[in-house]
Amino acid sequence: VGPENASQPESVRLFVAVHVPPDELERIERETEHLRSSLGGARWMQRSNQHVTLKFLGRSPVDRVSAIQEVVEIVARSHEPGECRLTQLGAFPTTRRARVLWVGLDDPMSLLPALAGDLDRALEPLGFPAEARPFHPHLTLARFKVPERVEEHLVALTEPGRSFAVTGIDLMRSHLHPRGARYESLRRFPLGRGDLTGRVD
Ligand code: ATP
Ligand code: MG
Repeated sequence: VGPENASQPESVRLFVAVHVPPDELERIERETEHLRSSLGGARWMQRSNQHVTLKFLGRSPVDRVSAIQEVVEIVARSHEPGECRLTQLGAFPTTRRARVLWVGLDDPMSLLPALAGDLDRALEPLGFPAEARPFHPHLTLARFKVPERVEEHLVALTEPGRSFAVTGIDLMRSHLHPRGARYESLRRFPLGRGDLTGRVD
């Protein structure tokens, strides 16, 4: 139980995410090692916390979680697994005043925007407002409290990323803490209509 629950004990902070294989996260960490000294004000995300957010739900009453899971499961089953690859570094909102440093993804079948759009539409009737901004799939590496100029530092990653299979999406719970959030997968939903017996409950 984190400090965020003190005032609202019956609610949880939720989002839906895709996970990247650990060896690809290790590669990105190796290849961005030099940035840890050159970008002084960055707060780096631990590897175990790195993910690609598809849909941010925010606070939800605990008693809505099973209805949310049903919706996420239907969306997951309606998309076949696909292949993605981590590619170039980038920053939000701009590389001259970065607040977020990220790695983008090559997603030739546009699986991630398809999932994000379906989650957006399917969760709206449950009271989660549809996203107004365009979806930019990314893996957050670091955040800046004070916007920082990063454009000179964003040289291309040296090794080409390995393409990896996206076989499921996770309903995630976020535990906010002053020293950084911790994320927990509540449940993984496999993509497609294949064998569901392997799912993690
Ligand atoms: P903190 O908010 O303490 O910096 P955090 O942003 O890592 O921590 P959350 O705010 O719970 O943790 O966010 C969980 C995930 O959802 C992160 O990937 C975050 O980038 C994403 N996210 C958070 N807020 C939004 C939002 N309004 N729209 C889209 N994605 C969001
Ligand atoms: Mg946040």
